[in-house]
Amino acid sequence: MSWIIKNYIKETRENETGAQVYPPGLRHPVAFIYPNVYHLGMSNLGMHILYQMINERGDSACERFFLPDKRLQQEHIKSKTPLLSLENQRPLADFDVIFVMLSFEMDYDNLLTVLDLGNIRLRAAERNQREPLVIIGGPCATFNPEPLAAVADAFVIGEGEETVQHVLDTIYREESKQERLAALAQVPGVYVPSLYTAQYDDEGEFTALLPQEGAPAKVARQWARDIDAYPHTSAIVTSGTEFEDMFIVEVARGCGRHCRFCMAGYCFRKPRPRKLENILADIAKRPERTKKVGLMGAAVSDHPQMAELTEYLVEHKIPFSVASMRADMLTEQIAHALAQSGQRTMTVAPEAGSERMRAAINKGITEEHVYNSIELAAAAGMRNIKLYYMIGLPGEEDEDIVETVEMIKRVRAKMDAVGNKGELVISVNGFVPKPFTPYQWVPLCNVRTLKKRFKILGDGLKKEKRIKLITESLKETVVQSVLARGSRRIGEALLKAHVEGRSLKQVLKEEGLDAEELAERELQVGQPLPWQHLDMGVTQEYLAAELQRSESGKFTPMCFDGCRRCGVCRE
Ligand code: SF4
Ligand code: SF4
Repeated sequence: MSWIIKNYIKETRENETGAQVYPPGLRHPVAFIYPNVYHLGMSNLGMHILYQMINERGDSACERFFLPDKRLQQEHIKSKTPLLSLENQRPLADFDVIFVMLSFEMDYDNLLTVLDLGNIRLRAAERNQREPLVIIGGPCATFNPEPLAAVADAFVIGEGEETVQHVLDTIYREESKQERLAALAQVPGVYVPSLYTAQYDDEGEFTALLPQEGAPAKVARQWARDIDAYPHTSAIVTSGTEFEDMFIVEVARGCGRHCRFCMAGYCFRKPRPRKLENILADIAKRPERTKKVGLMGAAVSDHPQMAELTEYLVEHKIPFSVASMRADMLTEQIAHALAQSGQRTMTVAPEAGSERMRAAINKGITEEHVYNSIELAAAAGMRNIKLYYMIGLPGEEDEDIVETVEMIKRVRAKMDAVGNKGELVISVNGFVPKPFTPYQWVPLCNVRTLKKRFKILGDGLKKEKRIKLITESLKETVVQSVLARGSRRIGEALLKAHVEGRSLKQVLKEEGLDAEELAERELQVGQPLPWQHLDMGVTQEYLAAELQRSESGKFTPMCFDGCRRCGVCRE
């Protein structure tokens, strides 16, 4: 083995507390890939939760793999060293089963790189009986697995806590690959793509996905109804993540705010706050080296006992940070608690600069809320403000971007007025339509229009020296859009691009397809969609009605007890 790789693994492991290493031969080895660098992957709480649950079974040993950085990738290739697990330096190809956590579209190609480096054949159909089963889960697998249908033996749709256990039971019970796949297809929340045939019309438009005999026509996403029944914390604390030595604790899952662009809000509803006493018990278990407790969840600030929780942390002098804070939920007490924990930046996501667009996306945040949070942050001693916006939202006009520019200037002026001389950072992404949201049918905003609107924003803020503008590459926005709503045909192009070392755009062009045109396609309500065989709980009728409400800027209230609106809560 190359000494560079050996050293990397040694140093990484020495920086960790909590990794579970079992001697080879005693348990079934289970590989877990996060298809991005260690630094990002170890910040993913889902991976920590499943790592603990797989190890707690008693019969399985979970071992982690990440995407090596470019220098290490070259070292693997040059030294002919296959990708090795962090726990036992075991080659990826030696595992019977490989789980993958897929969180972002830009990780699809990374996954192919990881499999290549691990000497795993990319196509499931080419992997034989002795080669590992590749099982992909996470948000991207949940909302549209089709672009990776040729790669995965199976997908876990929805939250994996229970499904992963059933998957392992099934794999350990059945003998042949064929028997395993047939049995996996019967596990609730598992989708076995090889048991379905995609059909297209003469123009190449997706028309249907036909299940083979015995495979279910619909696969229902699974969700943890009793959220307190599973582990909810970092399994491993390390200095090698974005937030050094942070112990992450899940506070709530799902979000009931109904922002119309938000895939997480639709695919992981309904909101489930954890019991305060369980959160506190988890915090008490943090390892000694913990520098900060990270409160995690899609809507942490909506937790009904957020005030008590932060009060407890302040009283016990436990530094903490929150994954997301809605501007309308920030209070004086929480702002002070965050500042006392060393937080210097208040992050707020208005998403759109005009009131009209914020109503269209159902964000429910006013400019007043943003000003209020600036005042509270300044009074508490937080110097910097970071605002997140999207450009290209459905129904947006150039005028909305002009309003965004004006809003940002007013925010700067407000910061100055309250004596806050810190940095104002504006982060702007192109809006990407996602499956299972009301915007699943709308086109990506025309790329020329997007460029123009980014220019309006850039020009409008050019003279503002104390405003820092960060924008995402439009090329990435287009690729994300193509993959997010892609069919198996897009998956074939992705594989070809990877194998030939070319861009997805180039390969699509060769096949007579234009990436921008694909992304900018408007889909019709009622037309067949590549992800229609998945049941997210939310009905298509509800999504279509929400699209209409977006067009007229109608507000949709939060989830509430006894609500039966969207189809998720049925009992
Ligand atoms: S508040 Fe809106 S954007 Fe944030 S998680 Fe909830 S639905 Fe998504
Ligand atoms: S049925 Fe109502 S409460 Fe349940 S997830 Fe849907 S909107 Fe929320």
